Amino acid sequence: MQKINKLLVANRGEISLRIMRTAKEMGIKTVAVYSEADLNSPHVQFADEAVCLGPPPSNQSYLLADKIIDACKQLKVDAIHPGYGFLSENAGFAKMVKNEGIIFVGPSPESIEVMGSKLAAKSAVSKYGIPMVPGTDEAITDIRAAKIKAKEIGYPILIKASAGGGGKGMRIVENEEEFETQMQRAISEAQSAFGDGAVFIEKYITSPRHIEIQILGDTQGNTVYLFERECSIQRRHQKVIEEAPSSVVNPAMRKAMGEAAVKVAKACNYFGAGTVEFIVDEELQFYFLEMNTRLQVEHPVTEMITGIDLVKEQILIAEGKQLSFSQEELKIKGHSLEVRVYAEDPKNNFLPDIGKLITYVRPSGPGIRVDDGFEEGMDIPIYYDPMIAKLIVHDENREKAIQKMIKAIADYQITGIETTLAFCSFVLQHEAFVSGDFDTKFVEKYFSPEKLEVKWDNGELELLAALAVDILEKKKHRLKRVSGQNGISNPRTNWKNRLI
Ligand code: ADP
Repeated sequence: MQKINKLLVANRGEISLRIMRTAKEMGIKTVAVYSEADLNSPHVQFADEAVCLGPPPSNQSYLLADKIIDACKQLKVDAIHPGYGFLSENAGFAKMVKNEGIIFVGPSPESIEVMGSKLAAKSAVSKYGIPMVPGTDEAITDIRAAKIKAKEIGYPILIKASAGGGGKGMRIVENEEEFETQMQRAISEAQSAFGDGAVFIEKYITSPRHIEIQILGDTQGNTVYLFERECSIQRRHQKVIEEAPSSVVNPAMRKAMGEAAVKVAKACNYFGAGTVEFIVDEELQFYFLEMNTRLQVEHPVTEMITGIDLVKEQILIAEGKQLSFSQEELKIKGHSLEVRVYAEDPKNNFLPDIGKLITYVRPSGPGIRVDDGFEEGMDIPIYYDPMIAKLIVHDENREKAIQKMIKAIADYQITGIETTLAFCSFVLQHEAFVSGDFDTKFVEKYFSPEKLEVKWDNGELELLAALAVDILEKKKHRLKRVSGQNGISNPRTNWKNRLI
């Protein structure tokens, strides 16, 4: 057991701040790292100490493992929290940290390695009776043999890169004719994007939901599940709205999924916080997708419904402490939703929209949490992920949580850049979302840019017409007053008139 006195957060923005808040609460000194683009960021200001890693591009700053470790040695740091993204799932980095005698707030390098490869992960969990999507369990080397397998599975099928992540490295094949060309492309893409050309095939589930289980495990071998998160609202295979609990998961399914997730964790001797992702079909059958060996972007919804600070648990586990609660003690309280506020333009295919945050006013109130890393007047740098904030709400049930979120979105004032806020509000008011009857195709099925245009109903139009008449009347009246009794002054040349 080793007490952590000083923690370096090898990350930036909202997650760096969020981790340091908990560390400070626990009486731990904090060290931030930053690139030259983030010099004035709140995470740098919030930390007790901060170290500049280099120029803005990630490979010259946030990905410099050696420089981060040097900073730890210089500042006598005892532990590193990697957050998500950057070095968080890099087994080599976790190993380097460990070899330097620094605590890595996360699982062992071996667990990261196994779960970092989708194929190795499938193989590790195969003996535990976890349901898997029908497909190949080895990298495809023989395209002809794979084609026969694809026929057996039935089209459409999905080609996935074993080293893929973040929704990248996937190709849908609709029929046999396309198989070979798509396969060639998938292999060369995987090679160039991930440096690993290993691909495999899976049955393409046409109406899937993405539901994941949060787990926590200590180094003594105790593992619990902290229920599910529903993450089916996605664009480009990437999540944008998450909630806990899921409206389709009943207690029996929750228990089955939770126990399967614990088995996945046990399969790789996991400790720390982790997420086991499942894909769920129309019949509510669930299949193992992958395990993320880090804190997840959407972890706050789990914190809201369980009352457990996941970062605090990660730190305690890293210190070697035993979990202080059992599975039976964990209960779901109320409902929580998170919307990701991306600097993206939903009217233009969700393309990143970088610029200055001219106005930035957060919503607030009971059950409203904003995890962010920017202030008004700051520039959103082009070098990193375009997520600027996460807006999280909690209420006693789903209906109330949705209403609270719609109101909080309306209160969130952001100008200077386009964001996903209006899009999220559209989703939350859509009948399919409200009824809970949706899948990962929500955006394709129901969204188009015109949906964000302001539409007026008849009552509102009448009100607008009445207002316009009223304004015109007042204008006429004031024109008369400004130009004297006869009212023959030209309003275009009389500056006073322009004040009206
Ligand atoms: P990544 O590591 O890139 O996040 P995942 O395997 O977790 O990849 O899948 C990401 C998303 O892709 C899922 O949430 C789901 O929307 C879609 N997906 C993955 N596998 C399948 C499948 N077999 N059928 C249909 N959709 C899938």
